[in-house]
Amino acid sequence: MKGALLYEGKGKQLFASETEGELIQVFKDDATAFDGEKHDVIAGKGELNCAISTYFFERLHEAGVATHFVRREGPREMRVRRLDMIPVEVVVRNVAAGSICKRLGLEEGLELPRPLTELFYKSDELHDPMINAEHAEIFGWARAGEIAFMRETARKVNAVLRELLEPRGIRLIDFKLEFGRSAGGEILLGDEITPDGCRLWDAGSGRKLDKDVFRRDLGGLSEAYHEVAHRLGIALS
Ligand code: UDP
Repeated sequence: MKGALLYEGKGKQLFASETEGELIQVFKDDATAFDGEKHDVIAGKGELNCAISTYFFERLHEAGVATHFVRREGPREMRVRRLDMIPVEVVVRNVAAGSICKRLGLEEGLELPRPLTELFYKSDELHDPMINAEHAEIFGWARAGEIAFMRETARKVNAVLRELLEPRGIRLIDFKLEFGRSAGGEILLGDEITPDGCRLWDAGSGRKLDKDVFRRDLGGLSEAYHEVAHRLGIALS
């Protein structure tokens, strides 16, 4: 049962639940890019993202990665553990795309010799500036040991996701994770894992199957996300 609305972001809402320490996360149909400058509502996107995120969280649980996911409770709703979020985004890259290309003058599609992890301070006003572990520690956002754990977990998530996606002809280019602390102080993977926060390219054609379709007006976002769900064998209502 959903209680009061506690938080509303660009893509999700968080409601209180009847259970202390658990929340209901609702995936919205909104698509946004460029810090909210570009916005659209895409029917069915919330359900697709909820289904895809549920699938990945379940596989991660089986692989021993602790996440906030409890269970799916509706087409667009999942029950999650309540977390005190750490304002540091962890990005893992296997192939150069997006901001790293601009920052370092790289060509999109450059294969990296090994997965690269990057940290960003989560702040809309500052446009999520890139930081290092020392910034996180000095400004009190996360302890050094917590950052190390987040990076190590992100590398493990990368390995698990690649193992799921590659046999289905999807290349995992990069993705973003967010973590938080549970009431007991345990660090859990939070937020979502969806094509909104990953770059996914069709292995054969290079076609983009992620939010870049929306960012760059490359066609139907819903079709692209359906393709990802279909290849992973995820059933939709
Ligand atoms: N990303 C995200 N939220 C953010 C920033 C990045 O989900 O606030 C994801 C993005 O979709 C991509 C990866 O993290 O899969 C790396 O993003 P990048 O740093 O290249 O920035 P972008 O090109 O999205 O501005």
